[in-house]
Amino acid sequence: MIVFQSKIDIDPQSGGSVRLNKGDHVRVIDPEGQQVADLCAIAWTGATIDWLSTSQTRDITERLFPRLGECFYSERGHPLLTLVEDNSPCPHDMLFPACNRGLYDRAGLPDHPNCRDNFLAALQAAKVALPIVPDPVNLFQCSEPQSDGRLEVAASINPAGGNVLLRAEEDLLLVVTACSVDHHPTNGGRCTGITLEILSLHP
Ligand SMILES: [Zn+2]
Repeated sequence: MIVFQSKIDIDPQSGGSVRLNKGDHVRVIDPEGQQVADLCAIAWTGATIDWLSTSQTRDITERLFPRLGECFYSERGHPLLTLVEDNSPCPHDMLFPACNRGLYDRAGLPDHPNCRDNFLAALQAAKVALPIVPDPVNLFQCSEPQSDGRLEVAASINPAGGNVLLRAEEDLLLVVTACSVDHHPTNGGRCTGITLEILSLHP
């Protein structure tokens, strides 16, 4: 039996984290719609730290975008999360990095909030250090490659309440940021929050 355990609200243009036990489920919800949620997961095998890798996931699943029932894999090739439900019309991106200071500097927006800094702040708050900043899974992002090979980020078409349900395949730290892009259609021109619902398995 899956029972509701807790809820975390991530404010617009910020990030947060939650520890999940193997078998826990988390529903990532876009309450107001069109809001991209950057997601990463970090796991430990003994003293060895491991993290969700979009490139390993593309390689192992031989897909550009996640598919229902398939897993997101770690840097070391271990399954970390399974996509159990997809209640969103968006493809979810596994090609783009987190938005970052350089992106906003190039747009003439210095010192703009960004997912990379928010990810690092959430990691620091959780007292976790990673050797790199992994590229996230950009849930609810619409950025499928064009026929001529171009990568263009369109406005998210996620409706209010659109969500995905993920199952933890390891004990892990889940980090999510509500994407900060407000100068481009990515988030519908307006940054809103993301809600996480943690659901635990009870026999
Ligand atoms: Zn972002």
